[in-house]
Amino acid sequence: MPLPVVAIIGRPNVGKSAIVNRLAKVQEAIVYDQPGVTRDRTYKPAFWSDRDFMIVDTGGLVFDDETEFLPLIREQAMMALSEACAAIFVVDGQEGLTEADRVLSDWLHRQHVPVVLAVNKCESLTQGYSQVSEFYELGWDTHAVSGIHGNGLAEALDDVLSHFPEKDEEVEEEEIRVAIIGRPNVGKSSLLNAIAGENRSIVSPISGTTRDAIDLKVERNGIKYRLVDTAGIRKKKYVQYGPEFFGINRAFKAIDRADVVLLVIDAVEGVTDQDQKLAGRILEEGRACIVVMNKWDAIEEKDTYTMLEHMKQVKARLHFTEWADVVFTSAVSGQRVEKIFDMIAPAAEQHRRRVSTSVINEILEDAVSWHTPPTMKGGKQGRIYYGTQVSSRPPSIALFVNSPDRFGDTYRRYIERKIRESLGFQGTPIRIFWRGKK
Ligand code: GDP
Ligand code: GDP
Repeated sequence: MPLPVVAIIGRPNVGKSAIVNRLAKVQEAIVYDQPGVTRDRTYKPAFWSDRDFMIVDTGGLVFDDETEFLPLIREQAMMALSEACAAIFVVDGQEGLTEADRVLSDWLHRQHVPVVLAVNKCESLTQGYSQVSEFYELGWDTHAVSGIHGNGLAEALDDVLSHFPEKDEEVEEEEIRVAIIGRPNVGKSSLLNAIAGENRSIVSPISGTTRDAIDLKVERNGIKYRLVDTAGIRKKKYVQYGPEFFGINRAFKAIDRADVVLLVIDAVEGVTDQDQKLAGRILEEGRACIVVMNKWDAIEEKDTYTMLEHMKQVKARLHFTEWADVVFTSAVSGQRVEKIFDMIAPAAEQHRRRVSTSVINEILEDAVSWHTPPTMKGGKQGRIYYGTQVSSRPPSIALFVNSPDRFGDTYRRYIERKIRESLGFQGTPIRIFWRGKK
């Protein structure tokens, strides 16, 4: 199913770009060249709540002396509207209702597309109400918004989303891609055999991957898992490698293809530099992760504190285990191997989780009210206007601030900690972008 399209319509300078930049996941637009069209329409992927969509910016709609659109631009707008399931009509609340807005509005009323009116540049709410009321006569669902500060956009978008077609529920039924990663001899093949057991079925290579990147499908409790590049795990058995070789590129590729990475570590040897290197890559790629401390059976003389002590070492050597679960297994005896699955599914769920903008902003408000951003040299105070999740896998949150360099590392870590404390995201890394005003 193609993604729903939302068209942004309005005169020049009302703040369309400011609004588009807030909603879009990326700053670069996708330009589709279409023969016969002089001005290209630009599309930007965006999402709100649980819906992905495309924003098409029509450029500023202008009028010639006969208060008629320039034909080409009108054609552009018509084409954008014809594929849109809703339009956001942007007007300038500070300038007030203009004749040009009225003409544009009349034209939109003839287009059979649901329209949400965004009265932009309403930064102050009290001011906002009077700014907005004069636009009611246009006859649209009307919202006071600020493209620059972000307020009001949540409500406007909820309105826009109500016009979307029902979502295709089937896409939800997805398999979880799992990579088993680790240095040689930590027990990856043994673990794979313990997991896949007898009932493994080989799936054909996915297009775009090499023939020997064989994936295995396994199912547990009705959830489908795809173990990626299992051939890479087994194959090395038949090849002689020098002690330095550890197939790191292959490991990196498998990480790249996975949602969740099982980082297997030899519990007897503890966390080595190479394990740290793999962990670093998992973090960089933004994959969910479970740390599997294998060969637990080979640790002699365990008492009640042994696991805690090992856990301490793991936490000290792999800082990302603030969020990653750690499990102590034995691939040979099968001890706790099934428990890994109890951890994969929730980690994958957190990895693809989406949090609503209103929840994020409640957390931010709370965090800021406990600790206001410190004042930097020169008396400049950092201000957080608004936050929104811009993508998932891993969850990525953009914070719109007056100026990112007014936020030091300590404060940034504080905000990240607050977000984690409130939202959990157990099992997955998260990303936070600090974006300034353009
Ligand atoms: P476009 O031509 O409709 O795409 O408008 P732009 O997004 O380029 O904005 C035009 C001008 O309005 C710029 O100077 C923006 O800084 C300003 N502007 C945009 N949004 C807001 C807003 O929410 N509040 C205020 N005060 N100014 C805004
Ligand atoms: P890989 O190179 O990471 O795939 O590791 P293998 O699965 O080939 O295991 C390397 C060696 O460690 C083999 O001799 C295994 O029998 C042994 N091994 C693997 N898992 C365990 C475990 O949980 N406990 C013990 N004691 N030995 C293990």
